[in-house]
Amino acid sequence: MRFDDDEGQAEFRRQLREWIADSEAQALREEHDRDRAARPEVRRRWHQQLYRGGWLGVSWPREVGGKGLSTFYEHIVNAELGNAGALPKPYVSYLGWALITHGSDEQKQQLLPGLLSGEEGWCQGFSEPNAGSDLAGLQLKAVATDGGYILDGQKIWTSDAAEADRCLVLARTDLTDRYGGITAFVVPMGSRGIEIRPIRQITGDAEFCEVFYDGVEVPENNIVGGIGAGWQVAMTVLRYERAPEELGFTSRFATVLDERTRRARSERLRKGVIGSDVVAALGRNRIGLDVLETFVLWQIGQRTNEGQRDGVENSMLKLFMAQVEQALFRDGIEYGPDELSPLLTGDFVEYLYSRAESIMGGTSQIQKNIIASRVLGMPRQ
Ligand SMILES: Cc1cc2nc3c(=O)[nH]c(=O)nc-3n(C[C@H](O)[C@H](O)[C@H](O)COP(=O)(O)OP(=O)(O)OC[C@H]3O[C@@H](n4cnc5c(N)ncnc54)[C@H](O)[C@@H]3O)c2cc1C
Repeated sequence: MRFDDDEGQAEFRRQLREWIADSEAQALREEHDRDRAARPEVRRRWHQQLYRGGWLGVSWPREVGGKGLSTFYEHIVNAELGNAGALPKPYVSYLGWALITHGSDEQKQQLLPGLLSGEEGWCQGFSEPNAGSDLAGLQLKAVATDGGYILDGQKIWTSDAAEADRCLVLARTDLTDRYGGITAFVVPMGSRGIEIRPIRQITGDAEFCEVFYDGVEVPENNIVGGIGAGWQVAMTVLRYERAPEELGFTSRFATVLDERTRRARSERLRKGVIGSDVVAALGRNRIGLDVLETFVLWQIGQRTNEGQRDGVENSMLKLFMAQVEQALFRDGIEYGPDELSPLLTGDFVEYLYSRAESIMGGTSQIQKNIIASRVLGMPRQ
């Protein structure tokens, strides 16, 4: 399998590079790194600029605002943004694909433009205090009333809830049916009865929140995929959340590693100040990244040739990506603050954040369970 660009991809990449060079990419990245309070607003501005440039949803169907291109093009966007040191593209595709796959025509028309353009912020209300890995154990209740439903309960770890305009919420419409009793609702975050409490992370940011639903009224039209179809909606979300075009932001890590390698090659290394352990770690990180990049491209190639897959490969990718990212940033802080100290501040935050990679979107243990049962055919117990 060859991973070179074809003519169309090369031209797309060239135009994107030109666009990035003329854009506010660097200024926004610096503002984002400098001013923690401004981050949500900076990310939203970047989202809208990427959209106006035509670089978002490139693999979405044309009839819902995409370009109908293959997922290779999503990878090109990730790669070029990473190479340029720009902020990543916003992670809207997995919610977008849930609406594209399960939403009514009216919902697609009403909701997808705002999601893609960044005019409306979205969040994902799945996890609860007692339902994370065991998502089907969720308890937030939705009780039918005239023309709608009333939601009561609590979600937790809802990323970006404090800035979001809408949330895709999984709720229980039937207490007796574990999977078939789950329904997906689009909930406006300004609805009466919603209380949002941000949770501060070890990085200092408050990216995710507890969200309390107390008698929140939601019209019936806001159900996605029909009553009791919430589990299927959730599986689509998770499949795309772990997809190679969403996770394939490897060039950002390569940029970090290139910079470290450049510093390590400096005078001090030649004088023997940087030891063989650092050199070995740099080599290990490089191999991890190269294998990850090849895996991402191979998987995208498979999908392009054979269509959307059932997502088991995504579990392998997610597991491996978390391992590579965590090793990169863990080794980074272990290289030694004296020699590579300029990198320390940024790297340390990245290190702290990388710990979350083996939890969010399904933990590494859960990915291993999936691989064990569905790839290796091992019994569940
Ligand atoms: C940065 C970040 C952002 C997030 N954003 C969102 C969001 O936007 N929306 C949302 O809904 N959720 C979000 N989450 C929540 C995330 O999906 C859950 O944290 C995750 O699914 C794990 O659930 P839990 O935290 O309840 O842990 P638990 O499920 O309680 O797991 C605890 C530990 O037990 C292990 N474990 C559990 N079950 C098994 C098993 N069967 N076999 C082996 N080991 C097992 C787990 O691997 C883990 O180590 C986010 C999490 C993070 C860290």
